[in-house]
Amino acid sequence: MTSRHDAARHDAAGSADPWESISQRIADSAELLGLDQGLTAMLIAPERVLEVSVPVRRDDGRIEVFSAWRVHHDTSRGPGKGGIRFHPGVNAHEVMALAADMTVKCAVVDIPFGGAKGGVAIEPRQLSIGELERVTRRYTYDVAMMIGPDRDIPAPDVNTDERVMAWVMDTVSMFQGVSTPGVVTGKPLSIGGSAGHTGATSSGVVQCCRAIFSRLGMPIIGARAVVQGFGKVGGPLVYLLSSAGMRVVAVGDADGTVYNPSGVDPAALADHVAEHGTVGGFSGGDPIGAEELFEVDAELAVPAALGGAITPVIAERLAAKVVVEAANGPTTPAGDAVLDRRGVVVVPDVLANAGGVTASYFEWAQARQGYSWEPELVASRLHATMQRAFDATWQLAEEHKVSLRRAAVALGVGRVAEATQVRGLFP
Ligand code: NAD
Repeated sequence: MTSRHDAARHDAAGSADPWESISQRIADSAELLGLDQGLTAMLIAPERVLEVSVPVRRDDGRIEVFSAWRVHHDTSRGPGKGGIRFHPGVNAHEVMALAADMTVKCAVVDIPFGGAKGGVAIEPRQLSIGELERVTRRYTYDVAMMIGPDRDIPAPDVNTDERVMAWVMDTVSMFQGVSTPGVVTGKPLSIGGSAGHTGATSSGVVQCCRAIFSRLGMPIIGARAVVQGFGKVGGPLVYLLSSAGMRVVAVGDADGTVYNPSGVDPAALADHVAEHGTVGGFSGGDPIGAEELFEVDAELAVPAALGGAITPVIAERLAAKVVVEAANGPTTPAGDAVLDRRGVVVVPDVLANAGGVTASYFEWAQARQGYSWEPELVASRLHATMQRAFDATWQLAEEHKVSLRRAAVALGVGRVAEATQVRGLFP
C-alpha cells in the first residue's frame, strides 16, 4: 500500500493525466474557497491506494496475472463509494482520479459517502464467463480488507454489471458467513437490488439536460443531440433523450459510429446492439468516422464512454452549444479551456452523472433498513436530489461568476472540507 504522500505525487504524463487533472481541479476550488494549503493537500491526496496482482486460471489451464487496484480517496463524509472498472487501459492514476471524482460527486449531491474506485486491467471481451467470474472473485478476495457496508461499497462501472456485483456480494458473504447485501450496489433485484437503479445515471443526465436547456432558454423539443457510448449509460440515454422530444442524430461506440439527420430509432438501435454488440453496421443510419461524431451539427453533445474524449482538438471542432458529461472525466483541462473560450456550456460529470451514485445510496439505505422502497419513492427522491444539486451549482456559478464545472467542484470540495475540519486531525 502506498502512503498518502507517495500516491499524491503527480507523474510526468502532463495535464492529460486524469489524476493530474482532478488534482488541479480540486486545488483550483480550494483557492476559490480560500482554503489553506494543509487542508488543500489533505483534500487532494488519496487516503489509501491498494495495488494487487490477481492470478487467474484460464479455461485452457494457463495461469495469467492481472494488475488491479482499489482506492479510497476521501472518507470524511462517509464510507467510500465507487465502481469497479474492467478495462485493459486501467492504471493506478486513472483509478485514483476516478476515486477523487467520486469524493466530489457524492458531496455535490450531498449523500453520506466518500470517494472510492476499483479497477482490473483486463479486456473482458477476451474472457469466458467462467474466467470473468474467477477474476471477479479473486479480485474481491484481494481487496476484501478495503470493502464492506461501513467501509467502502463498490458498484458497476465500465464493463461491469449486476452479474459482477452479485459475484462480489456472494464472495464477501461466503467469507463472512452471513448474507451481506450492503457491500455492493447495482445488484440484481432478486438479492436486494433497488427499483430504479438501472437507468438512474441516464435519467439524471436527462434531468440535467432539461435543466440547462431551460436555464439557457433553449427548447428541448426538436433539439439535436450526439451521444458517444452506448453502454449502461449511453443506451438508456439515447432512448430517454428521444422520449424527451430530442433527435439523437449521431451515436458512436468503441467499434462504430452512425449518423442519421432525422434521428436514430432508439429501439431499433438497441436491438441491433443487443445482437451485434456494437452500433457499427446499424442500418438505420450512415457510418461516419469516430472522430467526426462531435463535429455533427447538434445543440447537445453527451460523452458517455471513457475519460479524455474531448481533447483541445475535438473541443475546437465540437459543433454543439451544450455538453452534458455522462462519462467520468470526458473533457481534459485543455479541452475544457477551449470549450470555455468558445462559449460552450458544460454541465460537468460530478453533477451530470450523479444520478447513479444517488440511486446507489438509496439501494444501500434499503439494505440497511431491510425494507424495499416503491419505485415511485426512488424516482421522486432521485429527482429532488438531482434538482437540488443542479440549482446549488447554478447559484454558486452565478455568485462567483465561474463555469458550472468550477462551481460544482467547489460545491463538493467545500462540503468535504467542512467535514474534514469538524472531524479534526487525528491524532
Ligand atoms: P459500459 O461499459 O456499459 O459502456 C461503455 C460504452 O463506451 C460502450 O458502448 C463502449 O463501446 C463505449 N466505448 C468504449 N471505448 C470507446 C471509444 N474509444 N470511443 C467510443 N466509445 C467507446 O460503461 P457505462 O457504465 O455505460 O459507463 C460509461 C461512462 O459513464 C464511464 O465513463 C463511466 O465511468 C461513467 N459512469 C457510469 C455510471 C453507471 O451507472 N454505469 C455512473 C456514472 C458514470
